[in-house]
Amino acid sequence: MIDMHTHLDLYPDALKIADKVDKENVFTLAVTTSPRAWIATSKVFEKYKNIYVSVGLHPEIVEAKANEVDLLIDCIKTSNFVGEVGIDGSKRFSKSITLQTSIFEKVLQECESQNGKIISIHSRAAESTVLNLLSKYPRCGTPILHWFSGKAKELETAIELGCWFSINPIMCNTKKGMSLIEKMPKNRILPESDGPFTSLDNKAIYPWEAINVANTLEKIWHCSYDDVVSQLKINLDTLLGRTYE
Ligand code: MN
Repeated sequence: MIDMHTHLDLYPDALKIADKVDKENVFTLAVTTSPRAWIATSKVFEKYKNIYVSVGLHPEIVEAKANEVDLLIDCIKTSNFVGEVGIDGSKRFSKSITLQTSIFEKVLQECESQNGKIISIHSRAAESTVLNLLSKYPRCGTPILHWFSGKAKELETAIELGCWFSINPIMCNTKKGMSLIEKMPKNRILPESDGPFTSLDNKAIYPWEAINVANTLEKIWHCSYDDVVSQLKINLDTLLGRTYE
């Protein structure tokens, strides 16, 4: 149906599954981890009408790819979608936190000067820094916090700032994830797989399986599966309508 955040180019069988992704999903956002990857991946998936590729620079690899920052800023000018970008505050990446923060700020600045983009954002263990920056650039477009796992208070701030949320089947499998999803506005939620690095029962989650979050939303929203699906479609249309405003 919809996958708002997948690393489609990184599935070992990416080319084989692309047809199925294009057929089963009305919309798939293939996020990339570097602008060079975006250039290459855009060409590969160009022929698929339901697959969109967004330009990003993954916060976990900024140190290795810092020389691509100018290219990233340049590419943002020609892409409606930006991601994966953001900040990772885990210990493992603490060395690059200053660099991550300055790159993310540059990205938001550029998005604002380009009249707004749809931005898929990584915010693990750096939720408040990400939200502070978003509040500094209120015209950066539509930020979508992917796999949000912050505190309830931070979620409140994110909602106030107008953030959207892409949620995945793993979040639906944890108590914390569920309690956050319960508090997210119904009209700002979209499904994601974040595959191929997410897995359930040792199997990678595929883009057409992102919609499995509907089984959880059905319970949280107290409505039927079909109602969930129509709400998600409305959300997608609302989001995309905004791109071209
Ligand atoms: Mn990701």
